[in-house]
Amino acid sequence: MQNRLKPAKIYVISGPSGSGKTTLIKRLAKSRAIRKTITKITTVTTRLPRRGEHKGRDYFFVSEEEFSRRKNKGYFAEWQEVFGNYYGTPKKDLIKELKSGHDVLLCIDVKGALAIRKVFPKETVLIFIAAPDEETLKNRLHQRSTEHKHSLRRRLRVAKQEMAYRKKYDYCVVNHKVALAAKELKKIIEGERRKDEKT
Ligand code: 5GP
Repeated sequence: MQNRLKPAKIYVISGPSGSGKTTLIKRLAKSRAIRKTITKITTVTTRLPRRGEHKGRDYFFVSEEEFSRRKNKGYFAEWQEVFGNYYGTPKKDLIKELKSGHDVLLCIDVKGALAIRKVFPKETVLIFIAAPDEETLKNRLHQRSTEHKHSLRRRLRVAKQEMAYRKKYDYCVVNHKVALAAKELKKIIEGERRKDEKT
């Protein structure tokens, strides 16, 4: 991890289910330069782990009681209910990284993203990941064997609502091909860093 003299940034990535944001972030992390200079904050959720997900890497999985206990203690920088589950960003982890001068990456929903910008207006860079079109979004969601039919319909409906938020974001990356979208994302981060160098 590199200590940087410039104030640290919070790169917040949002996008509907099926936009491919998780795959994109994994691809981005393959870049050594990115991996070494940006810390991904692991968030907390009450949803059950999907196959292949690991505690502490993908999420911290907790019960509703535990989530509620933490929420009441002010543990979260922001929290939201998404698809009937609760998700929250641990404040302590975020602040610890920022204070150390490390840029951080957050992959959270649109309302959470705007809440983070409210709390950290200078540090936050909002990046929206969009699927090329509705058909692609539908196909990607169908390919996910993890989703039940009713949950799939709900994710599609919410995806459309989330798309309306893209105008509030600083950048929008259309994810046609993951390799190209990852390059674009990397360029955005490099551009933001250059901006910092100039100030
Ligand atoms: P999934 O269940 O598919 O992993 O995530 C559902 C949604 O919750 C995604 O949009 C994801 O980015 C979002 N999410 C994950 N962690 C957080 C968080 O800590 N806060 C908020 N507001 N959203 C989150």
